[in-house]
Formats: sequence, C-alpha cells, structure tokens
Amino acid sequence: MTKEQRLNDIALAVYADSGLMTPSYIYDERAILGTLDLLSGLRKAAACHILYSVKAVSVAGLLETIAPHVDGFSTSSLFESRLARETLGGRGSVHMVSPGIRPDEMLKIAEQCDYLSFNSLPQWERNRPAVRDRMRCGLRVNPGLSFVEDDRYNPCRPWSKLGVSLEVLHDRHKQSPASLQGISGFHFHNNCESREFAELDWTVTKICDALGDYLPEMSWINLGGGYFLENEAHIRMLAAIVNRLHDQYGLTIFFEPGKAIVNRAGFLVASVLDLFESDGKTIAILDTSINHLPEIFEYQYRPVVMQATESGAYEYRLAGSSCLSGDLLGDYRFDTRLAVGSRILIENIGAYMLVKANMFNGINLPSVYLLDRDRKLRLLKRFDYSHYRDRL
Ligand SMILES: *Cc1c(COP(=O)(O)O)cnc(C)c1O
Repeated sequence: MTKEQRLNDIALAVYADSGLMTPSYIYDERAILGTLDLLSGLRKAAACHILYSVKAVSVAGLLETIAPHVDGFSTSSLFESRLARETLGGRGSVHMVSPGIRPDEMLKIAEQCDYLSFNSLPQWERNRPAVRDRMRCGLRVNPGLSFVEDDRYNPCRPWSKLGVSLEVLHDRHKQSPASLQGISGFHFHNNCESREFAELDWTVTKICDALGDYLPEMSWINLGGGYFLENEAHIRMLAAIVNRLHDQYGLTIFFEPGKAIVNRAGFLVASVLDLFESDGKTIAILDTSINHLPEIFEYQYRPVVMQATESGAYEYRLAGSSCLSGDLLGDYRFDTRLAVGSRILIENIGAYMLVKANMFNGINLPSVYLLDRDRKLRLLKRFDYSHYRDRL
C-alpha cells in the first residue's frame, strides 16, 4: 500500500465514523503489525530477540496488540516493568535500565524483571548483594559515540549520566574482575530517530575493540533502540550486524525499538472549534493543544497535517485551546475552506506524545482508538473529569 493509499484509508475511517470523539489519538493496527512483520523477518535472518520499549506508548490495548509479536518488553521504571509483566503474563522477558533506582524498589523490580542493566558501577555495587541471583544483571555501557545533534537527546553528550564509559569498564575488568562477578551482559543505547545503520555498526565495532577481552565472558548484549525500521534494507543491515556479533562472541542479542513500532501508526484527530481574523491571519482554534503533542513543542517540530497542501488557497494558523499564546501548531494551507467542526488529522505522532500529554488548563486528554485490521475503530481509552480531579 502506498503512503497515499494508507492515508486515504485512515481518513476514510475517521470521516465515516460520525460518532468519533475528538480530540483523539488513533493507532493504525495494520501499521503496527507491518513493522512487527518486518521485525519478524529480522528474527528469521538473524539470532535477534526483539523487545518493545514500552515508554514510547503504553496503552494497555496497544501492548496487547504488540506482545504476541515480540520476545518481551523493555522498561525504564518499576511501574513500566509491572505493566510489562502483567501484559506478558508468563511469556517473554522484561528488561529494565534506569539511572535512578530507588533502594526501596529494588526487590520489587526483581519480582517483575528478568534482566536489569545497571547504569553505573556504584549502582551495581550497592544493589549487587540484593539482586544478583534474582535477575540477569548487566551494565549499561556508554560507547562515547554521538550521532544526535541536540544534546538533550544525546546519550553520549559530554559528562553523560548514561552508562559506564568503555575505558572505565575496561580498566575495572583488568584490575578487579571479582567486582564484576555476576554481570552477564552489556546494554547500550546511543541513538535517536536514526536510519543510518552504519552508526550502529561503528558503535558495535567500538565496543568490541574496547572490550574485546571481556566480551567472551558475557552471554548477552542489548543494542538499545533509536533506529527507524521501515524497509527490508534496514532489516538486512541490522541482520548483518547481529550475525557478526553472534558469530564472533556467541552472544544472545536484544534490540529494543520504541518509536519505530508505534510512531507512524499514530494520528491525532482534532476538530475546529472557532475561526476568526487576527491582524490579517485566520486563526483556527482546535479542540486539542500542544499539551497533547508535547514533543512537538519540546523539539520545535512542525507537525504533519494530513489535509494541508503546499499551495492551497486558504491559509490558517492552527492553534490549541489552552491559555498559552504559544500553543500553536503552525500556519498551514488547505485546498478547501475550514469550517467549525472540520476535522484535522496530524500524522506520525504515535510515540512519546500520549505518554507525556497532560491536562493543563483542565483540558481533557484525547480518547484513544485502535483502527483495527478490519478497519473498525475500537475505543481503547477515554478520559473524564475524575482523571483530572484524582491526579492532583
Ligand atoms: C528510549 C529508549 C529506547 C527506545 O528508543 P526509541 O528511540 O523509541 O527506539 C530503547 N532503549 C533505551 C535504553 C531507551 O532509553
């Protein structure tokens, strides 16, 4: 299906359902399953275990869609780990890494997780006596290779808080191997939204060069996420890296994408609530807000509006309904006039939006729908006044 056909398909479902509440996040099950299908090709071509990173979006109904097609979930906290374990039931594994593990949570984490990667040597040493035999323990290493320009999202920025540097780990292994007894694997994650698998290759090569005499003692390695997986070529490049690591060191290999699995599958649908002129521009107030798309504000992205065109005759400034003057999606052109009630579809917002969205101004959160494989819209989640009141 071409991109155009797929978008038409989404738009048809949205327009056909006059009862669809807005604003709402819509997740296209076929898109999620399409990416998972590519990943199952990876599992056939290479000895790679696939984990879904639940922080990208953790709606229960979506986790249930994803769970049968992955080997487990990766998590960042006790709550995520508990949700992951509950969703997986008896199958699959839960893998956690976090720079901030509370001492009072350690044993509860051990109940939910199968793998825990420690972020620093002191974090390992402090918790080692309690957890060593309860989970497989690993160390997050910081390969010191940056591919992300914005330092806020660059795990390998100077003075990074994420992972043990290769030099420090190499020296520790030389000087005091006993202090690492109980560590059975490595974890790294040093990219964000990349399509360049050469970057993963450089990273793996650097880790193998630096820790070549330690790696044979390990039984697993987790390559993190941070890459898009959109076609067979991506899978082939990833398979080559995995096979090389596997053949050389006999490691069990995990890969834990988040955004790659859910971002393209997610849409936000909003309705126009008001239209008026302001200093010569037409403002269209939507029933959504940048607080429903917080990463757009954080990164200063320009959201992709499905119906907008380059040269449409009608220009609008799309604005959110909060009190903040900067609550704006941007200026867009359309071939036809917008009216009160017109629906606007925003694409590629499946990851890191809903999980960070908030009810600032008491504006309700969007509902969540699954556009299932039979093209029926199924309501997964709906918020109301009690969610607003009870959170605070
Ligand atoms: C965020 C994160 C991921 C998933 O990243 P994506 O960019 O969504 O693929 C995987 N592993 C770790 C350790 C992470 O922090």
